[in-house]
Amino acid sequence: MTSIAGEAWFQDAALQRVLALLNTDGGEGRIVGGAVRNSLLALPVADVDIATTLLPEAVVERAGAAGIKAVPTGIAHGTVTLVVDGKPFEITTLRRDVETDGRRARVAFSDDWQADAERRDLTINALYASADGAVVDMVGGLADLERRNIRFIGDAATRIAEDYLRILRFFRFFAYYGSGRPDADGLRACAAARSKIATLSAERVWSEMKKLLAAKDPGRALLWMRQVGILTEVLPETEKWGIDAIPALVATERALGWTSDPLLRLAAIVPPDAARLAKLGERLRLSKAEAAYLQDWANAPGVKDDVSDAALDRLLYRHDASGIATRLKLALAVARGKAEGDFEEMARVARLSKLLERTVRWKKPVFPVNGADALAAGLSAGPEVGDILSKLEQQWLDGNFTMNRAALLARLKELI
Ligand code: ATP
Ligand code: MG
Repeated sequence: MTSIAGEAWFQDAALQRVLALLNTDGGEGRIVGGAVRNSLLALPVADVDIATTLLPEAVVERAGAAGIKAVPTGIAHGTVTLVVDGKPFEITTLRRDVETDGRRARVAFSDDWQADAERRDLTINALYASADGAVVDMVGGLADLERRNIRFIGDAATRIAEDYLRILRFFRFFAYYGSGRPDADGLRACAAARSKIATLSAERVWSEMKKLLAAKDPGRALLWMRQVGILTEVLPETEKWGIDAIPALVATERALGWTSDPLLRLAAIVPPDAARLAKLGERLRLSKAEAAYLQDWANAPGVKDDVSDAALDRLLYRHDASGIATRLKLALAVARGKAEGDFEEMARVARLSKLLERTVRWKKPVFPVNGADALAAGLSAGPEVGDILSKLEQQWLDGNFTMNRAALLARLKELI
């Protein structure tokens, strides 16, 4: 029998205390979802979700009696968070769908494990582990996990029509855990329902898409999404641009130890067009920081790979350094993709790497002269102050920031 009893996270005293609390007096609690799936794949477990036959009020009551803190996170949906030794555990009462409309479901509490499993989306996400660590599989998830087959529970088209976000979840989980070709039924059903993605809330779509883009290698998932017209539904900006840059970017990230950055991956598959990216940001409701990242990138000047250090510094002073870094990262990835056996590209890779290093280290120097200095030097208040100071700043810049305050004050006198 498959078991996760040997896992360190499972033996954690806090978790065991929670399981003991639920699995007594006619109640039952099992671990479900990502924790079980990842353990079986020997991947790290981030958070532990627990399903229980107990009603939320009963969970709160038992926690109270045991002196455990209970937070009613989403009590209407049946979720209570128990905090033990500072660690949060989400406890959700078993549910079955009463009504679905493609965007959300009305659910009823139940004590039926099979029904709870069947309302989940993918077979690999519906594995449970009982309090003794034994894995319970009611939907064929173990066999699919073994073959790395990402498959809907039940009829794919029906399950997708209950919640169209499952189209994106299919590709997200394929990106993380799938191999080979996507399940044919699932792929066909996703493709057929692709126009319904537009009916989902932008937040759900972007949150799911961002997770997909953060996969270690989202390349094959994106390729299939593009193949069946789903990528265009979510990101029409990629239509003409294509996703050819992804493999080289992923290889570069691996080689250079960069973390998987969903926004850098996004930048690799859309054109650096500030106006279109602003629209993309509004359409998908990107956060301010995410939208700014794309704008900084699109507005950054092109950097020739043979630019001198001094000229790069001047660009960095006048423009947004993180936007330039994004440009250089993408250029470096493209060059690395072409470099094998090509000496010219190899030399380009070396130059771009140096420029990127300098850009990442860059700290903008502070111009050491201000308006008060100009007035003290004899200038009267007015627009002239700004004009002279910006002239002086440009000279300081042209001299690679080597002029110190004293030299600049002397030059200020000359300019006046
Ligand atoms: P991870 O947290 O590592 O991304 P996960 O499997 O925990 O993976 P979540 O998105 O956190 O994924 O969802 C938790 C569980 O809830 C899933 O494993 C799945 O069983 C179920 N689930 C989540 N979203 C849906 C959905 N849209 N339709 C059906 N079931 C879902
Ligand atoms: Mg989760």
